[in-house]
Amino acid sequence: MKSNKFGEDFWKKYWTPPDEFIEKTQKSFKADKVFAMGLMPVRGPAGFRKLDYEFAEQIPVKEIITHLEEHHFNVLGVVIKDTDGACLWNTKIGWNPTNRDILGEFVDAGKDSNIRIMVSMTSMNDAYQGHIYPDRVSIHGGYGYHTDYNKNGEPFKSKYHPGDSTTRCEGEMRVDIPTEKNFSDVLEKIPFLQNKIDAKQGAARGARGKGYVPTTSFMCPNSGHVDYLVDLAEEVVKNYKIEAFFADYIRYDGSFTDICCCERCVSKFIKKYGDPRTILKSNQWYDFKEDTIASYGQKLSERIKNIDSDCLVGWFSLPGPKLFTRNRLGQNWTKLGAYMDSASPMIYPYLTGTRDDGLWWGFLAWLVYRYSILNMKNRMKEFNNQAILAITNSVECNVEEMLKQMRTFDFGLGIALFKYYGTSKAQWKALKKYALEEYGLDTLGL
Ligand SMILES: [Zn+2]
Repeated sequence: MKSNKFGEDFWKKYWTPPDEFIEKTQKSFKADKVFAMGLMPVRGPAGFRKLDYEFAEQIPVKEIITHLEEHHFNVLGVVIKDTDGACLWNTKIGWNPTNRDILGEFVDAGKDSNIRIMVSMTSMNDAYQGHIYPDRVSIHGGYGYHTDYNKNGEPFKSKYHPGDSTTRCEGEMRVDIPTEKNFSDVLEKIPFLQNKIDAKQGAARGARGKGYVPTTSFMCPNSGHVDYLVDLAEEVVKNYKIEAFFADYIRYDGSFTDICCCERCVSKFIKKYGDPRTILKSNQWYDFKEDTIASYGQKLSERIKNIDSDCLVGWFSLPGPKLFTRNRLGQNWTKLGAYMDSASPMIYPYLTGTRDDGLWWGFLAWLVYRYSILNMKNRMKEFNNQAILAITNSVECNVEEMLKQMRTFDFGLGIALFKYYGTSKAQWKALKKYALEEYGLDTLGL
């Protein structure tokens, strides 16, 4: 095993892993160590800056399972609903633009393999639902700016006011229009696409996309959207044998400090705390946000466990400073942990930048890497009563950076990576070696 001053033993100094939850996670995944790869079917063949349903329609399910087996992975995490809102299974209540039961195909293919299937479902961020239910979208309570694009494809700041919807231009995903098609053809498939172009590819994260700009919406967590999500989870767990269900975007939109001030949220807050003057700026308000998100976590977990008590329920945590996760996201790690078996901190220091893009980006990423360690040291005790399985990235970084963060952020249960498409040949080779040399086939349950 490579020596690394971080990793499992290092983290034990800051957090006592709760045996019961560790064992539960190991039982669900049938392995001591999880070695998971994430698949984001709608994001195209390289990074994750594209939205592409035609790509999803052509995904070779069996080939993927075989490829993962050959590289000694034991878990495949399928993003069955991404931030666009498409539901990639045979759904009666959701929207599936791919005409394909991608989850069903993976579950079937997984049965004859060593690959266990888990799913990730994006929760509050849902462009399609925002498009069809604008009254369920989060509402601004203050003034500020959204990024918009002018007719030359250049970004500009567009002002919003109290009472305005938070639906705005998507930050990450862009859409290419194939030469044989025009905008209105694609609009039929992607009804939340705008006739606006982001013309320039930037170097910073969130500015690397190029193409047509869809909208994005963070739904109000006190709206009917929550019931919709819980019903979706029920449909999935009832109809597909999966080992784990993880909720992503189980939070408010982190870009703004002034949400959600819709009539539902405001009246609910006043009913509980009385004083409307404390909205947006008091401890009570932040408690209210945290409780709202935790209440969704509770509903989701209870619905899943009622159907399949063996299905592991987890959530993806944005590992920022407390001021950010509490005030903006409404993510309280301990409150959510009351209902969840496992937390997956998303630790992507090398998405900030990679040394391959030059010294400056390498330095920036190094800073974020060091910060990520410090932040987890300070805060991981807040994950009490949950197993921690971190996810880090393989895309948009090099082999050394990928391995470094995999070793560092293994909290004892192994590591998850994203994403399948975009991982380079050299990285696949390194991943296979890592699995063999640092985990071993027995530990991986292979
Ligand atoms: Zn609201």
